[in-house]
Amino acid sequence: MNAIVKKLVLSREQAASGVDYSARNGAACPWCGEKTRITTTRPWEDRTRIRYHRCLNPQCPISTLNVTIKSIEVDLTPDPVLEKSW
Ligand SMILES: [Zn+2]
Repeated sequence: MNAIVKKLVLSREQAASGVDYSARNGAACPWCGEKTRITTTRPWEDRTRIRYHRCLNPQCPISTLNVTIKSIEVDLTPDPVLEKSW
């Protein structure tokens, strides 16, 4: 398979299954690595939060093909301990 096509297929798979979300840097486009714009932020569900992004790089096929990039943020800090009533 053509290397570019292969990379595109992989990038689209990553965009669909979810890339890592950094609280500091947001989510990077799986194709070009540029910072993406958040289009939708879902509420926290347990310890994870899903967001949807768009790549804004006009040179990037992910952007040209209007591929939505999904990101997953995971918060592993423990929940606050409820104050004991006794
Ligand atoms: Zn991109």
